[in-house]
Amino acid sequence: MSGPSTSHATNHAASHRKRILIVEDEPDIVRGLKDSLEFEGFEVTSTSLGKDGVKLMKDKPADCVILDLMLPDINGYQVCEQIRAANSVVPIIILTARGQESDKIRGLEAGADDYVTKPFSIGELLARIKAIFRRLGHTKGDGGELLRIGAGEVNVKKHTLTRSRKTVPLTFYEVELLKLLAERAEQPVSRDEILDKIWGIEAYPTNRTVDNFIVKLRKKIEDDHSKPKHILTVYGYGYKLVP
Ligand code: CA
Repeated sequence: MSGPSTSHATNHAASHRKRILIVEDEPDIVRGLKDSLEFEGFEVTSTSLGKDGVKLMKDKPADCVILDLMLPDINGYQVCEQIRAANSVVPIIILTARGQESDKIRGLEAGADDYVTKPFSIGELLARIKAIFRRLGHTKGDGGELLRIGAGEVNVKKHTLTRSRKTVPLTFYEVELLKLLAERAEQPVSRDEILDKIWGIEAYPTNRTVDNFIVKLRKKIEDDHSKPKHILTVYGYGYKLVP
């Protein structure tokens, strides 16, 4: 594992320390993560049990959750669903074994925002967490901004989509992705730019992360998600929003 490489001064200076919950049963990973995150100025809580993770999020919600899938009591998907049921907004990053594409998709369906493949570099995970908080910081000033997409209305502050008189929750990355596409409506936005601006990563082994989110969003926003009219694919490049 590589150590943190970027400046930590700004985090130490922040008045409100961001809280991160780690739900992971491998002591070496917990120790490595905890040391690096605390060094960066985050307040870190950890537990090796899924049920404790759900309880901790109810008692004192963290600003971000790092969640392992293989836990001794209940599995990470269940933890994710239970945290999501009570908190539609908190960013959840899951830790998965290498190459388990089905795990990642199932994790995203359970409400996770992102995944990191083990063995991972702490530097990469830190970059993603910082990107999350950078974007969360921007969201605070939005003051209940609404995005209209087709027959739907996205409330950026409440993380909800209202469509046909039904309101459904949207996750952190779903809202961030829609905001980025909406800022550049009618123009193609590349997958690389999306990964860089939203996930805080420059290079990535596959671009499935973005694609998986587009699939989820189309199901929520489009009349027929197999024939999208609002979130269009720009082949070989990325996506374009037509509000
Ligand atoms: Ca484990």
